[in-house]
Amino acid sequence: MNIRIESIRARLQAPFASAWGSISDRPLVLVRVEDTEGNVGLGEAAPLPDYHGVDVDDVVEALETCREMLAGASPGAGPAEMPPEWGRLAAVPAVAAVDMALWDREGRRTGQPVWRLLAAVRAVLGPDVAIRLDANGAWAVDHAVAALRVLAPVGIELCEEPVRGLEQARAVSTAVPGVPVALDETAAAAGALDERVCQAVCLKIASAGGITGLLDAARRARAAGYEVYLASTLDGPLGIAAAVHAAAVVRPDRFCGLATLSLFAGREDPLPAHHGRLDVPDGAGLGDGLAGWYRTG
Ligand SMILES: [Mg+2]
Repeated sequence: MNIRIESIRARLQAPFASAWGSISDRPLVLVRVEDTEGNVGLGEAAPLPDYHGVDVDDVVEALETCREMLAGASPGAGPAEMPPEWGRLAAVPAVAAVDMALWDREGRRTGQPVWRLLAAVRAVLGPDVAIRLDANGAWAVDHAVAALRVLAPVGIELCEEPVRGLEQARAVSTAVPGVPVALDETAAAAGALDERVCQAVCLKIASAGGITGLLDAARRARAAGYEVYLASTLDGPLGIAAAVHAAAVVRPDRFCGLATLSLFAGREDPLPAHHGRLDVPDGAGLGDGLAGWYRTG
């Protein structure tokens, strides 16, 4: 897939003034991607140095780093196939431009408007299945707001860590009230649980300091007004069991993400989910029959 980058300046009818400065013309970077089958997609980067902290030169430089990545992409590659480090490292408006262009190209390739592509998951799952998103903090605020506004009509149960940072999460949550936002990685930030900045917090045994730390974090989060749920960090069965025990007393407000032992190869899952639910393990302590898992595989 080839990428073509073009900088333009679009003059405004009158200078536009705001808290981050005044501009009379708008620098934009037009991105055109074309796959090996001739399908073309367009996107734009709209950097404002005083707002995004990057200018057109930064965006173009970031886009140049994308050239090699896209060159090896398959004709059907979509935005989700961009490596996550790209989203974190590159100038954010550049990320938005490539994402936009890939969505546009995919829509044109399949003859579908982008909104319909975005609704495909819902069409397959039907109306009764909750769809939860997790951006792992890869989006910038403006990117997150734009994406969630598009996706909100599909019915999104929750978006976890759309952006990194407390004020960033607050901004997204405020801008897109139709999609609940949860802290995940940002829950470990100083003061994260002292004041509610969005709807929910995802707590993890490994991040919270074990059962004791998780119970304390849940208490503080609830006091601040957050909903609470638990998830794993691909823990082994002892970590999952610890979280299940903690969940039994925390009584999560939303679905948890703890049924991850089935993702391991060559080891029997000692805590399988039944109809979406995990039972508290049998036996004393964290439960019986968990240690053998560590000696197999
Ligand atoms: Mg997460």
